[in-house]
Amino acid sequence: MTPSPTQSRITIDGAQGEGGGQIIRSSLALSAVTGTPIRLENIRAGRKKPGLLRQHLTAVRAAAEVSGASVSGASVSGDQLRSSVLEFTPGTLQGGDFRFAVGTAGSTSLVAQTLLPALASAGESSTVTLTGGTHNPWAPPTDFLQRCYLPQLAKAGPRVDVSLTRHGFYPAGGGEIRLQVQPQTSWSGFELLDCEPTFTPKVTAIVSKLPRGIAERQCDTIRRKSNWENARYEMIEVDEPTGPGNVVMIEIERASVTELFIAHGKVGVKAERVARSLLKQVRAHLGRRVPVGEYLADQLMMPMGLAAAQGHTSAFRSGPLSMHSQTHLAVLKVFLPIEIDVQEDDDVIVRFRPQVA
Ligand code: AMP
Repeated sequence: MTPSPTQSRITIDGAQGEGGGQIIRSSLALSAVTGTPIRLENIRAGRKKPGLLRQHLTAVRAAAEVSGASVSGASVSGDQLRSSVLEFTPGTLQGGDFRFAVGTAGSTSLVAQTLLPALASAGESSTVTLTGGTHNPWAPPTDFLQRCYLPQLAKAGPRVDVSLTRHGFYPAGGGEIRLQVQPQTSWSGFELLDCEPTFTPKVTAIVSKLPRGIAERQCDTIRRKSNWENARYEMIEVDEPTGPGNVVMIEIERASVTELFIAHGKVGVKAERVARSLLKQVRAHLGRRVPVGEYLADQLMMPMGLAAAQGHTSAFRSGPLSMHSQTHLAVLKVFLPIEIDVQEDDDVIVRFRPQVA
């Protein structure tokens, strides 16, 4: 997967499948890693506010910086922020010290996930500081990166540490995370097929500039409806300048994989109701008896695909594939010489193999 500037440009239709930001982020990451120039069209055509929003524009610029790419059609000036077409021509991957600001509560995790395949494949280690949202609806919270995604990524090779220096809740943002990336020259395959019956739960409720009672009521609601011992609960009070904010998370730690679910406190929605909606997500996941939940499924596809492109087979077992996952598989097949086999029964097993010549 050494970048080759002579590769011909491929066109990606951003309206395909779920038509959201993931097609854009994955295409940028894959373009940077494989050295394939791309033209992205119909960017986020499936969303209410189509085109590049600030988080996606940050991802474009960040991906360009770490891969020495030239970009046309995406600028922050005027309506370019909502740009629906762009061309991205990658150069040489370069590690280093980077700092990117999403500028709103746009997700720092999603920008991080765009950069990691490229930084993990660069010749030097990197540090990246990202400011923006750390706990956004519709995106992995920083805790998900730390507890779920990065430990699996490490099985494919890259060692990445992420620390949260400041929480940034939706809608104000203003949080900060720092990544330290140790690259490696090759990706390894791995499997997540077994769902160990025992798990350790952990409940974390966070409030910023809001009464501690909200976190207490969320923990009490979960305590009453589960038999998890008191030591499994943590309440965190922070006082971030951009508060207020409240989230409650449940982590399900198994020997081979940790899953994490989150619910966001909202004005006008009782703390108890937020906690019940979280428990509902967790019970639905536990009831499926699969190691990999809906969100981790679409996020594992990138490292597993990259490993397959280097000759190493991977596989995971999950519930029915989301539209995000199906779209992600389609994008990976465009860039990588791999075969993807989806075996659907009660569960779904997705296998990534090198393409047979
Ligand atoms: P998009 O909607 O295309 O911008 O993509 C959203 C991404 O965020 C997908 O990779 C999802 O798996 C991920 N995601 C959304 N919500 C969560 C969550 N609660 N926990 C972890 N990942 C999430």
